[in-house]
Amino acid sequence: MFPVEKIRADFPILQRTVNGKPLVYFDNAATSQTPQVVIDTIVDYYQNYNANIHRGVHTLSQEATDKYEQARILLQQHFNAEHAYEMIFTSGTTHSINMVASGFGSLLNKGDEVIVSALEHHSNIVPWQMLCEKTGAVLKVIPMNLDGSLQMDTYQNLLSEKTALVFCNHISNALGTINPIKEIIDKAHQVGAAVLIDGAQACPHIKPDVQALDVDFYVASAHKICGPTGVGLLYGKQEWLEKLPPYQGGGEMIETVTFEKTTYAGLPHKFEAGTPNICGGIAFGAAIAYMNNIGFDAIAKYENELLDYGTAKLLEIDGLQIYGTTNKTSVISFNVDEVHPYDIGTILDKLGVAVRTGHHCAQPIMDFYQIPGTIRASFAFYNTKEEIDILVAAVKRAVAMFV
Ligand SMILES: *Cc1c(COP(=O)(O)O)cnc(C)c1O
Repeated sequence: MFPVEKIRADFPILQRTVNGKPLVYFDNAATSQTPQVVIDTIVDYYQNYNANIHRGVHTLSQEATDKYEQARILLQQHFNAEHAYEMIFTSGTTHSINMVASGFGSLLNKGDEVIVSALEHHSNIVPWQMLCEKTGAVLKVIPMNLDGSLQMDTYQNLLSEKTALVFCNHISNALGTINPIKEIIDKAHQVGAAVLIDGAQACPHIKPDVQALDVDFYVASAHKICGPTGVGLLYGKQEWLEKLPPYQGGGEMIETVTFEKTTYAGLPHKFEAGTPNICGGIAFGAAIAYMNNIGFDAIAKYENELLDYGTAKLLEIDGLQIYGTTNKTSVISFNVDEVHPYDIGTILDKLGVAVRTGHHCAQPIMDFYQIPGTIRASFAFYNTKEEIDILVAAVKRAVAMFV
């Protein structure tokens, strides 16, 4: 049995009430909650060894540098990267994607093609549009099916020797559907294109193996994996990170500077200009360690039980429709009849239930279904079936008010 009660005790926030009701937190796809070990790691940093890294000979600076580099190694092991210096600390997924997009600005030529999927988060659409505008490259879109899957035959037809880059999320944040990224990567490589996978939504549920995937770039945010906000990851294969120009100029990313010429530092420092989020990086490592202690197989199995239970219970409600119905993680995106998702979300909050309503930064998906948005309940490994019962009862109450 999955020790959910023991796990819940690790998360102090789960004890609080909202509007006089026990908090039911089902907005995990927007950000996850933080276990005490991660909070303790943050406090420990500021209480005991707060210092700038890599620069000082003094003890505090060395301690901070060691912990920060240990966190990088933890990330390397978690994602099974070949080298620790292929793990670049960023401020989050959006930052990571922009770094790659900006780097490709000097590698793409007019007429090159960039392929993105129809299931992307806005942070995975806008940087590529900007890149294409700047370089004259052409943006192509892999269309989606009604069940939330991608049209893989069309993808095959879009690929050609003109394809320079392919971008796709591992798991859609709006629908929770899992994309066939291995197939997407292999097919792109057959035409010599590079692939960036947005793992922001996948990493809370599965442990990606970047070498087995043979992916060129993989990005994630700590705050969706029990870590703090403001820190994330850019994994890049060494050969690609060496090919890309630096993103920002500043301290830490240079080897020598004169007014005539600057030579850049090696990896990972080339991409880590300025003082990074030191505490955040260390806490990111603590969060990854915490989740690995529980085990991603156990997490996935338990979350699947929650998904099946929640799906069955919600579908008992008349007029309830779920979007994204194939091969999913524990995210349920739904509407009830014509009731506006915002109206239901507001009532749910009054009853202590936190869900996300709206377009989930994925407006093209909402346009595809011709809906203004959805109600998205996203479950984490610290949620319970009892909480799902509370959600279902609350949705019923809300619907009764509006229908
Ligand atoms: C959350 C999310 C992002 C953006 O992550 P930030 O941490 O806000 O930068 C990008 N893509 C997907 C799939 C996401 O779920």
